Amino acid sequence: MIAVRDDLRALDGYHSAQVEARVRLNTNESPEPPPAAFCDALAAELSRVEWHRYPDRAATDLRAAIADLHGVDPAQVFAANGSNEVLQTVLLAYAGPGRTVATFEPTYQMHGHIARVTGATVVEGERAADFSLDPAEVERVLREHSPAVVFLTSPNNPTGLVEPFERIRQLLELAPGLVVVDEAYAQFADHTALGLVGDDRDLVVTRTFSKTWSMAGARLGYLVGPRSLVAELDKVVLPYHLDAVKQIAGRLALRFTDEMDARVKQLISERERVSEGLRSMPVDVVPSGANFVLFRPRRRSGHDVWRRLLDRGVLIRDCSSWPRLADNLRVTIGTPDENTAFLDALAAVLDEPPGEAR
Ligand code: PMP
Repeated sequence: MIAVRDDLRALDGYHSAQVEARVRLNTNESPEPPPAAFCDALAAELSRVEWHRYPDRAATDLRAAIADLHGVDPAQVFAANGSNEVLQTVLLAYAGPGRTVATFEPTYQMHGHIARVTGATVVEGERAADFSLDPAEVERVLREHSPAVVFLTSPNNPTGLVEPFERIRQLLELAPGLVVVDEAYAQFADHTALGLVGDDRDLVVTRTFSKTWSMAGARLGYLVGPRSLVAELDKVVLPYHLDAVKQIAGRLALRFTDEMDARVKQLISERERVSEGLRSMPVDVVPSGANFVLFRPRRRSGHDVWRRLLDRGVLIRDCSSWPRLADNLRVTIGTPDENTAFLDALAAVLDEPPGEAR
């Protein structure tokens, strides 16, 4: 058998257990499907798809709809199959062999992973014990490594922490290369870096349809950035990468902003209820500006608690073995009933004597 590239041999893939459970709160999806009127509108348009033709390569209508949503020019928008593919395209164009990419850990694992796959060197800055980002550490990483690309995730995944606006500004001032602000969860927070994007700034802000827009199954994400950068990405991405159905689905979803805003409000209020419930238990809770909450049982093994929750039909994300996240667990905010089921199950698990279950 041919051997894989030397630099990929030691690389671990992306793992997220897809196990069956009554209550699934492990992947930060929207707990509800899109509005029924969206599905009707999509069905009507699907009957007009020209299946024998390639789709619009420039995704003109979709880009225009996204641009309209954010009050920018369509030439500032690049869309792809999930924000993961957006990030991959950025890294193919601006990272790669001989270049360095900086992350501040713990953060979204795919940033470092995709960068390594492109052949780039990854440097990992460290966050403080409370997962906040120390400006001195940002400065050190940028000065010592001059990264071509630096990532900031706000709200951060898996911590849920929102990056103060000043930190983003500071990073923009100091970064010698491209700053990528990953805003997969920005609708759940109170500020965005979108207003900082401009043609004379090496900044892109990435977004996804997977969370707020209830469309994780469609795989669609995008970025807003300088026109010249978007033009480079258009060169790098495969031709016709966005299929006709996805282009339609994305464009139609944006007609339902009121419904989606109402869902975001409901998720935020549920997030506060879940956080409060957690704070009444013997667990440490990280303040979240996202649609999930990171917590750590104080006197129990995180993995044991995760397993016992699963035994009770509640699946959350086990981050307990991830670097810098010992014993931490992440719960996605679901429907009110799912959240109550989670809180009840967790209270019961924490009441059990340790060592009784598997
Ligand atoms: N960025 C962050 C911070 C995420 O948490 C996720 C999904 N877990 C993504 C990007 C990728 O989202 P998608 O590819 O579904 O758009």
